[in-house]
Amino acid sequence: MEEIIKGFLDLVKERNGHEAEFIQAVEEVAETVLPYIVQHDIYHGKNILLRMVEPERAITFRVNWVDDKGEIQVNRGYRVQMNSAIGPYKGGLRFHPSVTMSILKFLAFEQVFKNSLTTLPMGGGKGGSDFDPKGKSDNEIMRFCHAFMSELFRHIGSNTDIPAGDIGVGGREIGFLFGMYKKLRNEFTGVLTGKGMTWGGSLIRPEATGYGTVYFADKMLQTKGDSFKGKTVVISGSGNVAQYAAEKTIHLGGKVITLSDSSGYIVDHEGIDPDKLTFVMTLKNVKRARISEYVKTYPKATFVANKTPWEVKCDIALPCATQNELNENDADMLLKNGCICVSEGANMPSTKAAITKFHEAKILFAPGKASNAGGVATSGLEMTQNSLRYNWSRAEVDEKLKDIMSNIHDACIEYGKDEKTGYIDYVKGANIAGFVKVADAMLAQGVV
Ligand code: GLU
Repeated sequence: MEEIIKGFLDLVKERNGHEAEFIQAVEEVAETVLPYIVQHDIYHGKNILLRMVEPERAITFRVNWVDDKGEIQVNRGYRVQMNSAIGPYKGGLRFHPSVTMSILKFLAFEQVFKNSLTTLPMGGGKGGSDFDPKGKSDNEIMRFCHAFMSELFRHIGSNTDIPAGDIGVGGREIGFLFGMYKKLRNEFTGVLTGKGMTWGGSLIRPEATGYGTVYFADKMLQTKGDSFKGKTVVISGSGNVAQYAAEKTIHLGGKVITLSDSSGYIVDHEGIDPDKLTFVMTLKNVKRARISEYVKTYPKATFVANKTPWEVKCDIALPCATQNELNENDADMLLKNGCICVSEGANMPSTKAAITKFHEAKILFAPGKASNAGGVATSGLEMTQNSLRYNWSRAEVDEKLKDIMSNIHDACIEYGKDEKTGYIDYVKGANIAGFVKVADAMLAQGVV
């Protein structure tokens, strides 16, 4: 088996060797899915995974815009349309200076499996730009978004490809992107998700990724007869996912003691209560300031510069910032300090070596493609409401989100539980469950 996996990965590396993050995402899937393919005649010998690692289409384009000083800026725009076997391409847009084709291909590849797991009919895609929204005025953000959409519009559509937000793209950016799409196409359609409540958005969409990550962790804890009650929880990030993961953790009786951003983390051993969380939401979403400001208002908390929060003792860790933010040493520290559960809110935040440590220690570990699927699942529910021209209540959407997270958890058990030891390998479970649905559709549709 090792030979087959190595042969496959050598081929992928030969073609994409310079794309480290993409290779990392493919490796993790290949190691669990190839053995399954070999054991099942319907998939064996059809190069099905080789077809899945090749984007159906990848577009790059120039984005010109004029900054507040009147200078012309040039950025690069991308959309990776990875797989449309089970539905139109679906996945977020990321605006961050680190964005490259490798980052977007890894995200689009993960998205294919994640979207398949949601049980909703969505294919996988991802896009974005190396544009840095940090420090830009609202007008600059608007001009950039309009310029970006003035090219992207010809590649997307409500039955073709439906982008949404990701890092650096929130409600404000989706508004500007939607405005330009509507103007160019002269149609009001559900082409983007994460829209505002008065123009086609869904209740619970802003909360969904963070809530879903906590619902999933709660399901994992239940397999051990445990819960969030009284648990100390360490969260990284302070954006949309981290904020709502914190909110739901508090609802379920957990104590959140950290949040972070790219400059460091804050630790508040008294716990971040709902009032403090409201302060963080204003700080990050309205003032667009740094998390270090927290300690000026709450002086009992401390700010630790240039570090991640994994050195802080906790029961549960929720990495909600970005890829590869939790490495092997961090995993060692979490385990040494007695952490029993890690549920990823970000995409691929744990390195491969860190995941190996979690598996060896047999703790509860959920990969982002399962535990953070609540965001895109609720995007799917937004698409359904747009098609119906109808809005569900907050309680209705939340109930559906909970059901979806529970179904994803069941799918992980079906494909990831070791019958002898009872240990649930959620990475294996999510990869195989996500693969089966997409592979079946690809086989049914033939070599296209
Ligand atoms: N960017 C989010 C993700 O990683 C959401 C994508 C979407 O809603 O389409 O799943």
